[in-house]
Amino acid sequence: MKHRILVLGAGYAGAYTAGNLARRLSPADVEITVVNAVPDFVERMRLHQLAAGRDIEAPKLASVFAGTGIRLRVARVAAVDPERRVVVVADADGVGELGYDTLLYALGSHGDVEGVPGAAEHAFDVAARPSALRLRERLDSLGRRGDGGSVVVVGDGLTGIETATEIAESRPRLSVTLIARGELGARLSAGARGRLRRACDRLGVTVLEHAVVEAVEAARVLCADGTALASDATVWTAGFAVDPIAVAGGLEVTEDGRIVVDRAMRSVSHPDVYAIGDSAHAIGDNGRPLPMSCASAACTSQQAIKTILGRLTGRKTANTKLAYTYNHISLGQRDAIWQGIDDEGHPKPKHMGGRKSARLKVRLVALSGWAASHPTLGMPKRRHRLTAVPDASTKNAVTSGTATVA
Ligand SMILES: Cc1cc2nc3c(=O)[nH]c(=O)nc-3n(C[C@H](O)[C@H](O)[C@H](O)COP(=O)(O)OP(=O)(O)OC[C@H]3O[C@@H](n4cnc5c(N)ncnc54)[C@H](O)[C@@H]3O)c2cc1C
Repeated sequence: MKHRILVLGAGYAGAYTAGNLARRLSPADVEITVVNAVPDFVERMRLHQLAAGRDIEAPKLASVFAGTGIRLRVARVAAVDPERRVVVVADADGVGELGYDTLLYALGSHGDVEGVPGAAEHAFDVAARPSALRLRERLDSLGRRGDGGSVVVVGDGLTGIETATEIAESRPRLSVTLIARGELGARLSAGARGRLRRACDRLGVTVLEHAVVEAVEAARVLCADGTALASDATVWTAGFAVDPIAVAGGLEVTEDGRIVVDRAMRSVSHPDVYAIGDSAHAIGDNGRPLPMSCASAACTSQQAIKTILGRLTGRKTANTKLAYTYNHISLGQRDAIWQGIDDEGHPKPKHMGGRKSARLKVRLVALSGWAASHPTLGMPKRRHRLTAVPDASTKNAVTSGTATVA
């Protein structure tokens, strides 16, 4: 019987990890299945650009995994049962169960629109492709109106800044307002904050600082101090949340529902479960939780690959550096801010900006998308054999011993 690796989610973390495991483990011993809700690989980091009007392709996962031996199941994960080692999936044909020996949980996150009245009903978000496309349609319809229209972006985190500046640059007839809970760009160095402010001025983005949004209506955004902003399209970027699937399955999670993992990316409550990317609560080498980000998805994925390979083949597991060392924020297509971060999570005094930084950001985003959607390319094809296939019936059945390399 082959060892069954089940990967939930084929975003940056899941697709990359599944492909790498397929490349490195012998198909004679291991069967890898990936479950994803949609048939496409979605480059989330570019969804604000998609919403603003750029054409961003979403390659078919069937092509991404072609030739890897990975089985793709397009279905929604409805539940996990780590005690029985099964995952409940639902698709157009109904509900079914998939068993596993090793589970890799990479279901990512979604826009957190639940906390403020009206946000879920009336606001758009750019956290998923369908919602980004809905926003794009609304922006298109506003563009056809004679008077332009108003867009209010709530949240001055990285996604809010990127979204507001991208929309303002691509659709100059719209009036764009960015709402910041505190000072604009509070997590940036003084120099970077100045650059951000100048970029907003140049692009015509109105900034409303120290504003707490209390409610979203169909055509207005209401702030705690009584300010009411007219809005034809409100974009909610104030936070990301995870589905309650992990907590419902009895996995140990943080208050916000992320799976608590150890240094090796194993669930601290269920060692046959690994969590990576936005769904994982992993501690970086500086002792601080890694933020939800593509950079964290990359290092948690690399660590999980090493751990799983080590665990299944008896090889020594090496540590990957777990670090979040910079923010890179695009300000439209021609400007960006690269901001280094120290071990305490504070911005370093210097930053890099301008066209060079914008070009670098474009390259990094493209590279991340490429790496996840070409997960088996560019790597030596060395397929490790399991010395003995782990027994699926016992909870901690792990093969150990010397690996043989095919
Ligand atoms: C507009 C935008 C810009 C961003 N810019 C940056 C940036 O510049 N730098 C940076 O580091 N990070 C950025 N991020 C964050 C980054 O995109 C995420 O941190 C990253 O996508 C996390 O990767 P992941 O694989 O964990 O999750 P995802 O990429 O979200 O992948 C999760 C996958 O799971 C699938 N899935 C979810 N739920 C289910 C279910 N129940 N059943 C089946 N499948 C399911 C989804 O379809 C998806 O394929 C940005 C995010 C957004 C939205």
